[in-house]
Amino acid sequence: MEPFVHALIPLAFLLALFPNLDKKYVLSLVPIVWIIDLDSFIGVHRFTFHNIFFVLALALIAYLIWKNRIAFWVALYYGMSHLILDLSMPGPAWLYPLVQKTFYLDVSIQKATSWMFNIDTGSLTMGEYNTLFGNLPVQTYVGEPAVLFYILFSVLIITYVILKYKRKSKKSQA
Ligand SMILES: [Zn+2]
Repeated sequence: MEPFVHALIPLAFLLALFPNLDKKYVLSLVPIVWIIDLDSFIGVHRFTFHNIFFVLALALIAYLIWKNRIAFWVALYYGMSHLILDLSMPGPAWLYPLVQKTFYLDVSIQKATSWMFNIDTGSLTMGEYNTLFGNLPVQTYVGEPAVLFYILFSVLIITYVILKYKRKSKKSQA
């Protein structure tokens, strides 16, 4: 899945459902959805970082940075949203390294002679995953639109932080 989709979907839900949540956490924790895909460079994609233990570790780091429970939950939410959005075949290795298999769920609705509703579940071992997907170039996961999006997003966050800081310092002067 394209990195900007990985960010936009959970971000939109979070803003819509919890409009009063501190934007400091909502915005600065977004990169978690991208960190998880970095295992296409380090380790085995869909295994090394695509698991609940890695997500939990990121959430704990977020908690330690701000000493705040909300930071933990927002980080956990972003991490889990990535795994859920990756749910279709081949799926993430949810319990790696304890269980060295991906688990996936594919839902499809097709109209052939009649409507067909299909649910397909399954799992792949690391060996099976590598045979099927191991030779895909990294660009398959991180394309040029994604890089542009990273840049745009970073500019937005920096602007937001600067504006906020300015407002604060103005208030303290007054
Ligand atoms: Zn992923």
